[in-house]
Amino acid sequence: MTELWIPLNDVPAEGREFHFTDQSLWTGPMGEFRVPGKVGRKFEARMLITPQDDGFLVSGGFSGSVMLPCGRCAEDFELVVEGDFDSFEEPPGPEESLEDESRLRMTAGQPEFDAAGFLWEQFLLALPESPVCAEDCKGLCPDCGVNRNLAACSCKRDEGDPRLAVLRNLKLS
Ligand SMILES: [Zn+2]
Ligand SMILES: [Zn+2]
Repeated sequence: MTELWIPLNDVPAEGREFHFTDQSLWTGPMGEFRVPGKVGRKFEARMLITPQDDGFLVSGGFSGSVMLPCGRCAEDFELVVEGDFDSFEEPPGPEESLEDESRLRMTAGQPEFDAAGFLWEQFLLALPESPVCAEDCKGLCPDCGVNRNLAACSCKRDEGDPRLAVLRNLKLS
């Protein structure tokens, strides 16, 4: 995973803005975590880091797109992945547990922020669970495999009467 730790010791009180365009921030973990697809429109992120009394405010957004196969019809399509964030980051406690892992670390007494890990988490949050090319994608015919967005097939499917489905699921004892 690409590492990118931003030193925060000299961030002024009014904050500092950072821009990220290094694609390996996204392509690195996409490969590592086997996200199917490749980058379409290049990813970009901006991040404003503002010091607070007991931590840092991290706000901004990111945007880009990935080309990946549709979960229903298997055709490649472009999925825009973007999001905004507004997060308060606290320095690690003296006894860090795995559950509340801080994205800040202290190096020689100076705080550093895990920008790469943060941006990857934002990417995952913005990624739909099962990406489809269109809400109304008809997918592949389960019988003959034809892409039903492109062609009609003559397979007859017994969808059944939905009113009877309730009865069908009743167990007879
Ligand atoms: Zn589709
Ligand atoms: Zn068919």
